[in-house]
Amino acid sequence: MKNLVFAAMLTVAASCTGPQPPINLIPKPVSVTAAGGYSTADTGSITRSQPDAPMPPEAYRLTVDKNGITVKASGEAGYFYALQTLKQLQTDRGVPHVDIADEPRFAYRGLMLDVSRHFFPKEFILKLLDEMSYYKLNRLHLHLTDGGGWRVQIDKYPELTRLASYRTDAAWGAGYGRGNRFLPEGTEGAYGGYYTKDDIRQIVAHAAQRHITVIPEIEMPGHSSEVFAAYPELCCAGEAYQGGDFCIGNPKTIPFLQDVITEIMELFPSEYIHVGGDEASKRHWRTCPKCQSLMRRENLKNVDELQSYLIHRMDEFIHSRGRKLLGWDEILQGGLAPEATVMSWRSTEGGIEAARMGHDVVMTPVSHLYFDYYQADPNTQPPAIGGYVSPRRVYGFNPVPVDSLTPEQHKHILGVQANLWTEFVPDEKHAEYMLFPRALALAEIAWTPQQQRSWLDFKPRMNAHIAGLQSRGINAFTLSDEIDISTKVDTVNKLIEVTLDAEKHPAEIRYTTDGSTPTASSTLYDGKPITVTDSVSIAAAIFRNGAPQKTYYGKVDYHRGINKPIRYNSTYSPRYTAGGTNALLNGYRGGITYLDGLWQGCENTLDCVIDMGEVTDIHEVSARFMQLIGPQVFQPGSVELLTSDDGVTFTPRGTIPTTVASDDPKLSFQEYAFYGNWRGRYIQLKANETNGGNFIFTDEIVIW
Ligand SMILES: [Zn+2]
Repeated sequence: MKNLVFAAMLTVAASCTGPQPPINLIPKPVSVTAAGGYSTADTGSITRSQPDAPMPPEAYRLTVDKNGITVKASGEAGYFYALQTLKQLQTDRGVPHVDIADEPRFAYRGLMLDVSRHFFPKEFILKLLDEMSYYKLNRLHLHLTDGGGWRVQIDKYPELTRLASYRTDAAWGAGYGRGNRFLPEGTEGAYGGYYTKDDIRQIVAHAAQRHITVIPEIEMPGHSSEVFAAYPELCCAGEAYQGGDFCIGNPKTIPFLQDVITEIMELFPSEYIHVGGDEASKRHWRTCPKCQSLMRRENLKNVDELQSYLIHRMDEFIHSRGRKLLGWDEILQGGLAPEATVMSWRSTEGGIEAARMGHDVVMTPVSHLYFDYYQADPNTQPPAIGGYVSPRRVYGFNPVPVDSLTPEQHKHILGVQANLWTEFVPDEKHAEYMLFPRALALAEIAWTPQQQRSWLDFKPRMNAHIAGLQSRGINAFTLSDEIDISTKVDTVNKLIEVTLDAEKHPAEIRYTTDGSTPTASSTLYDGKPITVTDSVSIAAAIFRNGAPQKTYYGKVDYHRGINKPIRYNSTYSPRYTAGGTNALLNGYRGGITYLDGLWQGCENTLDCVIDMGEVTDIHEVSARFMQLIGPQVFQPGSVELLTSDDGVTFTPRGTIPTTVASDDPKLSFQEYAFYGNWRGRYIQLKANETNGGNFIFTDEIVIW
C-alpha cells in the first residue's frame, strides 16, 4: 500500500525532536511513502538513475533516505518534475525521507491568459511560467489578439501593432462599447503594448526549459475588431469600429490569416495553434455581398456553415504544415473540421460531443474553470465579470464526465485548462490575485488521480502554500472567511445532514441552530454532520482570537412537501434543471451562485402545482428567488399562492410583490413566505418576471 494518508507523517522522526510536519505537496503525487527522518544532503547532489523498466515521459520516482536523494525517470520532463517535488519538500530541517512514485493524470495541464483586454509585460509571463512549473502545469495558452488590442509583432502586417496595440482607455470597462479607440504606437498617454518577436522567443525558451509549451491564439472570425483599426477592408463594413467579425467573403481575408499564422508558427513550436472561433456575431455576413457570394459559390446553407468553411480552410492549412488546430467549442457549429481539437468552455457538453465524434478535447468549462469569475462573495471582492468560482468549486471539477463516454472516448479528453480573461484584470498584481491559489486546485485536478482527490485533504495543503506564494512575490488571494453550509437529504430516515466547511484551515467554526448570531460560547463545530429533522436556521462564523468574522446563514427544512408529486404549467430551462421535476421539493437549497446545480431557472414564468396526496392543513408555503442582473437573473414581479381540493378550482391565498428594484445590480435574495390556516390538497405557486426575456431562479418550495 503506497497511497498513504498524510496523517501518517505526524510520526516522530528518529533523528529529530518534535513531530514531523505534514508534507504539503501540490499537486498530490500518485504515491507517497514517508519513513520519518530527514536528509540534510545537498539537494544539488542528486543521483539520477535509469529506471529498470521504461517510464512514461513525465513520470518519476523520487527516493530520499539516509543514503541521499535518488531520482529515476526515463524522460527529461519526469526528472524535472522530481526536482519540483524536491523543492516543495525542502524544509528548515532538510528533506523528509520519502519514497514517491508519480505521474500525471492528464498530458494537457493548462492555463490561459488573455493579454489583449489588458496587456501583461514579458517579465510577468516569465514569472507566471516559473509558478506554473512549480505546480507541474505544462501549457500556457496566450490569447494574443482580441478587441482589446493586437499583442504580437507580425512582419508582413506591421500596422497590426502600430495601429491596433494601443488604445485611449486603460480600463476595459470604461471603454467597452463606449468609444474606446485605438491610437498609433507612440501616442502620449495611450494604453497598451505588444510582444516583439524577440520577446516571444524568450518566453518560448523560458517555457521550454520548464517543460511548458506556449500555445498561441489568433482569434477568428469574431473578436477581431482591433484588426480593422489597422486593416479596415478585412471586415464586411470596410471601416473600423463597425463590428468584430472578419469578412470571410473578402478574398484577402484567408490569405491574411494564413500569413499571420505562418509567422506565428515560426515563433511558436507548439503542436497546437489556437484559432479562437468563439462568439462570432455573424450579423454582417447575412447581408454582406462578398460573404453572400461566397456562400452561394460554396453552397453554404447558413452563416454557421460560413464560419465552419473558414475553420476548415485554416484546419487544412495548419494541418498541412504539421500542426494541429485548436478552437473554442463554437467551431462545432456548422460542422467540425476533420483534424480540429476542441476546447469546451460553455459547458462540458461540447467536449463530450466532440469526443464522441472522435476528436480530442480540452475541458475548460466556464462553470468551474473561469478564473475571471468571483472567487468569493462578490460584496467582498474587487469587480469581476460575474459568476462565482471559489477554490472549492474549482477543486470539485472532474474533467472526465462519469457515464457519458466510453473508455475509448475518454482517451480523447487530453486534459484541463483554466482561463483568465482580463476585462476586469487591469494589472499583474490583480492577475496574480485571480490566479492563485485557484491555479493550485487546477494543478491537482490535472495531475492527481480522481480517486485520490479530496477537498478536505487538499484544503490544508492549499492554505500551507499561500505563504510560499507570497514569499515568491505572488499577490495571492488569502482565502475568504466564508462558510459553506451544505446538506445531504436522507428521505429514508426523513432527515437532513448539515455540514459546515471553511476554505481557511485551521478554522474555529461556531454555530447556532436558532438563527441567532454565534458568539464565542456557541457550539464549536467538530466536523461531524448536524442532523435536522424539521426546520432550523443555521448561523455560523469563523472565530479568530475570540472574535467572530462574518456570519453566514442557512435555512434547512425537512418539510412536508419533500418528494411530493409536482406538475409544471410552465417549463424550466434545460440548462438549469437543478436535477429536474423533483428539484423544488428535494430538500436542497442553493448557494450564492445560480450555477451550482441547485437553482432551477425558468424563462420569465414559474407556474407549478404540488399534490399533497390528500386534503390537509397548510400553514406555510415559501420560496426564495435570487437576482443577479448581469447574467439576466431577476426577481419575479410577484409570487402568488393558490390552493385547491380537487386540482381544478383554485382559491387565491395571497400575492407577495418583490422588494428588490429591477435595476439593482447586487446579488440579492428574497424569500416569499405565505402564512395562514388553509386546507387543501393542491398547492399552486405562480411567479412572473415582468420585464420579459429574463430568467427567474428558485431552489426549493418549503411547505408546512
Ligand atoms: Zn463579408
